[in-house]
Amino acid sequence: MQNPFQNAMAQLDKITKIKDFGEDFILKLRQPDRDIRISIPVKMDDGSIKIFDGYRVEYNNALGPYKGGIRYHKDTEVNEVKALAFWMTLKCAVAGIPMGGGKGGITVDPKELSKAELERLSRGWVRKLSDILGPRKDVPAPDVNTTPEIMAWMSDEYAKITKDETRATFTGKPLDKGGSAGREKATGLGGFYVFDSLREELGLPDKCKIAVQGFGNVGLNAAKIFIENGHSVVAISDSKGGIYNEQGLDIEKLSEHKKKTGSLSDFEGGKNITNEELLETKCDLLVPAAFENVINDKNAHKIASSAILELANGPITPEADEILFEKSIPVIPDILANSGGVTVSYFEWDQNLKGEQWSEKEVYGKLLPMMNDAAKKTYKKAKEYSTDLRRGAFILALERIQEKM
Ligand code: GLU
Repeated sequence: MQNPFQNAMAQLDKITKIKDFGEDFILKLRQPDRDIRISIPVKMDDGSIKIFDGYRVEYNNALGPYKGGIRYHKDTEVNEVKALAFWMTLKCAVAGIPMGGGKGGITVDPKELSKAELERLSRGWVRKLSDILGPRKDVPAPDVNTTPEIMAWMSDEYAKITKDETRATFTGKPLDKGGSAGREKATGLGGFYVFDSLREELGLPDKCKIAVQGFGNVGLNAAKIFIENGHSVVAISDSKGGIYNEQGLDIEKLSEHKKKTGSLSDFEGGKNITNEELLETKCDLLVPAAFENVINDKNAHKIASSAILELANGPITPEADEILFEKSIPVIPDILANSGGVTVSYFEWDQNLKGEQWSEKEVYGKLLPMMNDAAKKTYKKAKEYSTDLRRGAFILALERIQEKM
């Protein structure tokens, strides 16, 4: 796999060619403030001890406490976490929230652990890092394969160790454990708001045919939200493969099918396709909502959608970005498109610190104008510098960070 941190730095290099931010500032952004690697011993159910590798990268806190999720994946390693922490720094700046950027992870396939082992592992991550975490220091959240339940264990462990009662150190918690209404849907919904506010500018029809890669929290919620708003999802996939139906898929029925059979394949309401085919689907909008580097120099020229909305972090490599730019396929970049998640995380943190509980309606009522504003300002920056939306979003973010620094 391409090194995601090198890709992130290649994106930064491209910016310096169109705007001079000064060498010192760019130099500062080439390294995280802190990159912490831990080993977490876990007692397994059979009595043996296993050691897991864990990470927390605190990238930059110019705008506020380090903020960003924790990823559990068998391929998680430090360069990925560093790239994700860098993108969080820019994402919070684009979204206009008073948070810096961080990210964490554990190299583990959570499906191979029992629930009790997963809980001990999650609590172990917190025990090793509790000194650097805190509502005003570093505020983790969920990411790939980490759930509200895991956040509840972590938040509980942190409270036990530090006696902190605010519950504001972890976001993405369950509602009854200090979570915010609307957090689960926030990334998908924020993505929809961003898309909706740019749709006409990008020349997309008012009823789009959409292909979604990913059937996790983000992909699934996004698919449902787009359908609720009159669009149709013609293809969707999980890690094993996907389903296509030109007339639009029934996502509720497909979810039931997956629950029953464990996979999307052989769903009556569509035909089986591979993940490669999904990415090459002819449609109005392609939504990668899974992993990094899925659109790269090998397949970028085969992309047949009119636009791309990046709900995953880093799904398009810098080389692919150039190819898409030449093909005039606009990309709504991750640091804008998926920033609804961290924005509602920020709302959760704010509610915890103020001892408030906002309704779902209130949360979405605050999210919508923030996403619209971020989208419009990104679009304006891109126009101002005659460049693509990714570079527009980078410039917007870097200007805000530089001003603070
Ligand atoms: N993991 C999510 C992201 O990549 C959310 C981070 C957060 O809520 O802090 O944006």
